[in-house]
Amino acid sequence: MLKRLSFVLMSLICLGNASAASLDVVATSPSMGALVRAVAGDRAALRVLAGPDRDLHQLQVKPSMIRALRSADLVVAIGAELEIGWLPPAIASAANPSIQPGRAGYFEAAAQVPLLDAGGPADRALGDVHPVGNPHVDMDPARMTTIARALAERMAQLDPGGAAAYRRGAESFASAVEQRLPGWRARLANAHGVVLYHRDAIYLLERFGVPLLGTIEAVPGVPPSGRYLSELTAKLSGKDGVIIYAPYQAPKAANKLARDLGWQAVRLSLEPPLKADGNGYLAHLDAWVETIASGR
Ligand SMILES: [Zn+2]
Repeated sequence: MLKRLSFVLMSLICLGNASAASLDVVATSPSMGALVRAVAGDRAALRVLAGPDRDLHQLQVKPSMIRALRSADLVVAIGAELEIGWLPPAIASAANPSIQPGRAGYFEAAAQVPLLDAGGPADRALGDVHPVGNPHVDMDPARMTTIARALAERMAQLDPGGAAAYRRGAESFASAVEQRLPGWRARLANAHGVVLYHRDAIYLLERFGVPLLGTIEAVPGVPPSGRYLSELTAKLSGKDGVIIYAPYQAPKAANKLARDLGWQAVRLSLEPPLKADGNGYLAHLDAWVETIASGR
């Protein structure tokens, strides 16, 4: 009993002592937050700026973001201009020299891996929101292991005392992904394909050879016209697949397309839950894999 009580007391002391963490980290998204938890565990005091239901292309700067950035040792962003509308002004307002782009305290996931859509797709002139390449790298588990290792090295640079712990965290995340890959590959081997709203989950589809059958938006960031949707319906008529859209993407066109084709339209977050760690991220991909495999 006494032992149990002292354990509870110890736990309370640890919980109360926020300064036990060695790095004050701000992640822009839940996927980046999950990666920080996987790599750093308790060594990072973490703030995540956007919940899983928010569109990272379109966030507004909030005072709470600036406050979080002011004391941060490290910012972990997805990058490739995904957060360009709000992160640079928030960082500028925070006036924290350590986290300026180019400094060790500023980390972009997309800068660690090769990007899809680099150089822009053919219709870039029509208004592409991804001019430097597709930023949605967090949907590829293999790229995420490369990013985890790079993040561990960056954290080791900022907090040398934790170097071994960060590298262990990254390696343990990498082996968890490694273990999951064969199962995901088998589950998706005969997947018919997916219609996305936006080209956001293309890294996941490409990793497993799942066809992207179309996107609901004709031009990134612009709602589709009726004519475009009719053409898409005609193109996909008689085929099998599933439509997947994010919570912040308008469901109307997705549901109409689903009705016209006799398919399912599934609302699925592009991000894991706010409190997700490495395992939460893998569970998030499990949900995507199951949804893609359900298309028929
Ligand atoms: Zn995008």
